[in-house]
Amino acid sequence: MKNKPVTSMLLPRYLVPVRPRDVVLLDHAVVVLDGRIAAVEPRETAIERFPDADKLELPHHVLLPGLVNMHTHSAMSLLRGYADDLDLNTWLRDHIWPAERRWLSAEFVRDGTELAVAEMLRSGTTCFNEMYFFPEVIAEVVDAAGLRACIGSPVIEFETAWASGFDDYFDKAERLHRVLEGHSRLTVALAPHAAYTVTDEMLTRIADYSTRHGLPVHMHLLEIAWEIQHSLQEYGVRPLKRLEQLGLLNDRFLAVHMAHLGEDDFELLAATGVNVVHCPESNLKLASGFCPLSGLLRAGVNVSVGTDGAASNNNLDLFGELRTAALLAKGLAADPCVVDAMSALELVTINAAKALGLGHELGSIESGKSADLVALDLNWPETQPVHHVVSQVVYAASSRQVSDVWVCGRRLLDNGSLTTLDLPAIMAKAKAWNQRMAVQ
Ligand SMILES: [Zn+2]
Repeated sequence: MKNKPVTSMLLPRYLVPVRPRDVVLLDHAVVVLDGRIAAVEPRETAIERFPDADKLELPHHVLLPGLVNMHTHSAMSLLRGYADDLDLNTWLRDHIWPAERRWLSAEFVRDGTELAVAEMLRSGTTCFNEMYFFPEVIAEVVDAAGLRACIGSPVIEFETAWASGFDDYFDKAERLHRVLEGHSRLTVALAPHAAYTVTDEMLTRIADYSTRHGLPVHMHLLEIAWEIQHSLQEYGVRPLKRLEQLGLLNDRFLAVHMAHLGEDDFELLAATGVNVVHCPESNLKLASGFCPLSGLLRAGVNVSVGTDGAASNNNLDLFGELRTAALLAKGLAADPCVVDAMSALELVTINAAKALGLGHELGSIESGKSADLVALDLNWPETQPVHHVVSQVVYAASSRQVSDVWVCGRRLLDNGSLTTLDLPAIMAKAKAWNQRMAVQ
């Protein structure tokens, strides 16, 4: 009896491996064996070498590494459109935090995360860096759906439906770390909310735990100008200096937003290896400020991109986000040459993988890495003619053109259909939340 082949072969028209950089391969094959990329080579050679492989022709498609969303609050998808057109302070204190006090529960997080994961997979995201309450529930949803995530265990100075105070937040973070240690697709980060909602004592303990266990620290930072005044008043130093003094600035630190940097900060970020996560659409919508993307890249800082939650974006579409990041950088620098298409694509692939400490595993299509892949169909009027593949991906393509998604070689989106999630049930639950929240 012939053995069922464990090898599969993807045969895209175009392949953008990201590493090596600036390369587009035509008519190449990606051979996948036991969830890993076993070979990237010309299609004829691959077909000859692996005659029994399950072949998938992708005749009009570009194959990309799976995209990585470096900052989101998945369950806040249930708060999409709940409070718009407000400044950050009013939005957060008068709308979002009261809504969370009223509605936050394991059920809210489960339903909201499922909705977010469905949106992310359908738009080519294979991994995300998460920060929200009930992280153990988020982990269950992600595990069942089959994609990857770095699950941030949140810490904030006030009580929530999830935790009663600092010791409780910290105990829960330690428990999550123990439970997920060794998981093949899920990792854990400590996620202090922001410099203005977490005390020195909390941050010191977080820095110590992160150092001892090698965990990332995922934190909102310098999102609004007011944070600087607050830090000077409370601690006598600017926020970045305070975090440096508390031992947090290193290559495990994921600093989200960074829209109010001083001139000296670029050098400090580069010297300490801090990873900056740029969320351009959320910053634009809340008019928070501008993260100086081109200056950070020039200074040698590793920058990646996140959507933030759907309550402030209002979608989780990384194709849209990377285009906004590139265009905004050009406009701000008054220079169309900065952040070219390839650099923009790196923000959501290899740079993000490095920021999570997973550069050896994700972020490019190379032999030995995990088979986390996205096929984008370019046979749409919006992306013809294909003079330049990466230009089409960054400046013209829509996430609606994502046809297939694989994580660890498993096909989670099959020609537009989710294979591990019940989309009608997820939609029904989102609509039920709309009813429930409306009658309140
Ligand atoms: Zn955020």
